[in-house]
Amino acid sequence: MDKALDILKQYYGYSSFREGQEEIIREILNGNDVLTIMPTGGGKSICYQVPAILLEGITIVISPLISLMKDQVDNINNLGIKSAYINSSLSNIEINNILDEAARNEIKILYVAPERLESQAFLELIASINVSMVAIDEAHCVSQWGHDFRSSYRRISRVIALLRNRPIVTAFTATATDEVREDIINLLELNNPKIFISGFDRKNLKIIIEKGVNKKNYTLDYISNNRNESGIIYASTRKEVDNLYELLNSKGLQVEKYHAGLSDDYRKTAQENFIYDKCNIIIATNAFGMGIDKPNVRYVIHYNMPKNIEGYYQEIGRAGRDGEESECIMLFSPGDVQTQKYIIETATESSVRKESELSKLQTMINLVYTQDCYRKFILNYFGEQYDEKCNNCSNCEAPGELVDKSVDAQKVISCVYRMNQRFGIGMVVDVLRGSKNKKVYELGFDELSTYGIVKNYTKDALVEFINMLISHGYLNYKGEYPVLTLNKQSMEIVRGERQVFVKEQIVKKIKIEENELFTILKELRMDISREEKIPPYMIFGDSTLKELSNRMPITDEQFLDISGVGNSKLNKYGEKFMEKIKAYINENNIEVKWSFISKKNSNISFDEVLDKEKEKKKKEKNNNEEKKKSYEVTMDFIKAGSSIKEIAKERELTLVTIMSHIQQYITEGNKIDFEIPLDEFFNDEEEKMVLDAIDKVGYNKLKDIKEVVPEEITYDAIRAIVLKKVINEVNV
Ligand code: ADP
Repeated sequence: MDKALDILKQYYGYSSFREGQEEIIREILNGNDVLTIMPTGGGKSICYQVPAILLEGITIVISPLISLMKDQVDNINNLGIKSAYINSSLSNIEINNILDEAARNEIKILYVAPERLESQAFLELIASINVSMVAIDEAHCVSQWGHDFRSSYRRISRVIALLRNRPIVTAFTATATDEVREDIINLLELNNPKIFISGFDRKNLKIIIEKGVNKKNYTLDYISNNRNESGIIYASTRKEVDNLYELLNSKGLQVEKYHAGLSDDYRKTAQENFIYDKCNIIIATNAFGMGIDKPNVRYVIHYNMPKNIEGYYQEIGRAGRDGEESECIMLFSPGDVQTQKYIIETATESSVRKESELSKLQTMINLVYTQDCYRKFILNYFGEQYDEKCNNCSNCEAPGELVDKSVDAQKVISCVYRMNQRFGIGMVVDVLRGSKNKKVYELGFDELSTYGIVKNYTKDALVEFINMLISHGYLNYKGEYPVLTLNKQSMEIVRGERQVFVKEQIVKKIKIEENELFTILKELRMDISREEKIPPYMIFGDSTLKELSNRMPITDEQFLDISGVGNSKLNKYGEKFMEKIKAYINENNIEVKWSFISKKNSNISFDEVLDKEKEKKKKEKNNNEEKKKSYEVTMDFIKAGSSIKEIAKERELTLVTIMSHIQQYITEGNKIDFEIPLDEFFNDEEEKMVLDAIDKVGYNKLKDIKEVVPEEITYDAIRAIVLKKVINEVNV
């Protein structure tokens, strides 16, 4: 296990295992089959990747997520683990190359789609090499009872039986009821497996269910309050996805959409743009997301109620994989129930399955209606004991003040009663608000005592209010063409035996602390992402950037102490990031007091690090620039006609440092009577915008300027424009 911990540190840059991981890895290394049920984002991959590195032969990972295999494999290759994938997106030549590499023992982890198990060439290969482990991801796909049945999963056990030596077989899934669990063990023929069910609770996810809100306004408000965050919006039909996409697009928001009606190419691009942070929002049906391991999804909005708790919990699990606070919001309206029933009716043939799906739907509806802690309800559903209140769901927290709306509710209920319980929400609202609608007159509803008695609500607000009454079960609203009818609770309200309290709704902004350095490092990450064509999170996750910007490491040793930095990442990116950090420290005159958090893994002392660093600096100073002041060297380059970017490259300094040299040159009282090539950083329009911003907020802090100009204008551009302004002023 010490070796396992070393690998965790060296490759992944994490200092300790998460709950469950250590025991699972120990069992695998002891040669036991394992079934692991762990929530999305819990950290399943590490459970098979770490033993894969330690075991002698190759590990084959079977995964149904073809579209994501490339990302997964790029990601672990980037950590320095030799891996590859085979699926239908590759040409035969490419596949043969990989098979050859595997045969030569050059691959440690090979991802394959289950369909590959039908290929003769593949079967021949694995029969001839040393397969130490077969890891089956999304193992619930083997079961008809699960929600993603894949028939090719049924072939896995037969293929394993073909191997020379039976490998360790490990199965992983995020959701499994008892039936599915049994199926996984039996159909995958796990051999006396150790079963690990880690807690399903994802503490960092705030569960919010909103009943009777205006979905459009709510969503628009929420998005505009969280403009810089990544989020997924799920809707239950393609049409709803299209409509929402149009709406958000028309508001000028960068969004993508994803559903089964779009071409493969379209979906692929949409998904990539989302993963690469090129757009913040993706609107999708439940076709999107299996295996999306983008860690910085800050919110998931369910625009409609999903059809079962398994699917719902898996979808919200895509938020906050990096462990940071994230929000999951379900916007419920009674129409969602009709939609889901319709989908179940039309898409399910077997009557047994239909019944099972309808009963799952009912549990979902019960979740929405519960007045108790939502987390408790969900965890209990998955068979987990959870009795306390979580204080991180909208029922526990109940934001806003409770207002007694019993009288308004009585008015609505009596109106429904007087209209003979035969009409939908629209008509009831018309009568209550005293509408001059022709149909209201024709039916004689203007004669009712409840005609026009609720005038202090707008139409939308009253629709919302009635929806709220329905969702709390105070009125019934059922059937293919739903009409409002009374139930026991409605009568209690009318008789004054039950009060109706409504919570005022507050749309909150997620608090993410971003300092200037964080933004600078994020820009650097984006540049590298473009250059290397890998998603930003594969370089460093948000939490790593956050730690970098708070702790500001400037030596290799310190950099390695940051969570999420392993050896491979240090070698690839350390220098670039530390350069930015050093420049930031210099520029802002910051004194960094460094202390190691995971000291146990570093075998040299802090003092030694400092000494080394000092020595290195001394050497640099002596060798370079023959004792001439650094800024003077920069100015010599400029006078010789070099551009700032060229100088930065030549001197291996950052652009910020070079610009600070120019600044220093001016501060020392030197006159500038030669051309300073600053225009390469901006165009006229950008210059104008920044100068306008300076008029408003001054230029003491670049951050203030950055906040008021369009996002595309970089810090480098702002810095250059400020510098140009200063030079002009000095010359005047
Ligand atoms: P799952 O497959 O269970 O949905 P992943 O394996 O994708 O989850 O892990 C989710 C996130 O948690 C990843 O960003 C991963 O790097 C991170 N993670 C996993 N194990 C640890 C650990 N021991 N320490 C810190 N982060 C971890």
